[in-house]
Amino acid sequence: MMNDNSVSIGLKSYAKINLSLDVKGVTDDGMHLVEMVMQQILLCDEVAMRWTPAEAAGTADHDALQINLKTNRSYLPTDERNLAYQAALVMRDIAENAPAGTLDINIKKRIPVAAGLAGGSGNGAAVLHGLNVLWDLGLSLQQLCDAGAKLGSDVPFCVMGQAAENEALKDRFAGDPLACHCALATGTGTDLVPLKGLKSHIVLSKPPISVSTAKAYQGIDNIEIKTRPNTAELIEGLKTRDLSRIEKNMVNVLENYTLMEYPTVVYTKNKMQELCGERAVLMSGSGPSVYGLTDSIRQSRSICDEMLKLNRESFWTRTTY
Ligand code: ATP
Repeated sequence: MMNDNSVSIGLKSYAKINLSLDVKGVTDDGMHLVEMVMQQILLCDEVAMRWTPAEAAGTADHDALQINLKTNRSYLPTDERNLAYQAALVMRDIAENAPAGTLDINIKKRIPVAAGLAGGSGNGAAVLHGLNVLWDLGLSLQQLCDAGAKLGSDVPFCVMGQAAENEALKDRFAGDPLACHCALATGTGTDLVPLKGLKSHIVLSKPPISVSTAKAYQGIDNIEIKTRPNTAELIEGLKTRDLSRIEKNMVNVLENYTLMEYPTVVYTKNKMQELCGERAVLMSGSGPSVYGLTDSIRQSRSICDEMLKLNRESFWTRTTY
């Protein structure tokens, strides 16, 4: 129901790619310790939120928070299993006065699902930001990242990236170094240090399969990893915009599992490499998405046209910076 007391916000929920991903060890409780460079890209979902306080909504139970979630992907859950829904519950628990009313969340998805692009994590981050504004909670970026870490290890990075790129958030977090487009993630992926990012056009292509992130991490436990990124050198390359140093260290150790298990990802990567020539081509996260760096939009578009013949979910886009 629309009424005058409703407040709304629309946020873009951007995808990320991994410029590198290394696994440094496993904790006693089986969590993998990573060292990875994450970079935000322009490909995004749109998350629209409307908050109608209980009195205005005419809700009988004034203590209740009613969440109505919709997406344009019929196979996605719209209840507690959705990260956007979970994010609203996390914010409800943080708010001092339990909010009563109706929260409508409408997610227009473009980012492929279960693709290694942190699409769901981004939607969760957008709801954290959205409710911080709509409920006037005044949380800092650090507090929002801490809230995000409860939802998933990629959520804090999405919180940071959205603060840097969304027009509706830029002023609020201006000058906060955590508002950034690229970061080094260590520990279980939630210890983040902002970095100067990569400025590049890219093409992204996702074979029509899903890869379980947990299985990919477990899968490399028993594999000898021959090539690892030199993360310090990658960061130095980003700092000095030295493309050859960057590209040399764009390595994702999870490829050792995913490429071995899924020939379609090998095929996608080989095709992308053939089209991108000398430029770097890498799998993002645990896959199956593969991206390649290009020199221009024009080149991205023509490579994307070719990749579309292979995978329906292929996109030309660019990094954010
Ligand atoms: P990550 O890189 O953070 O592991 P991913 O890109 O591999 O993420 P997601 O797109 O986040 O994967 O989706 C992973 C799973 O999360 C899906 O199987 C999906 O059912 C579930 N999920 C929950 N909420 C969402 C959402 N809002 N959007 C997409 N998937 C969601």
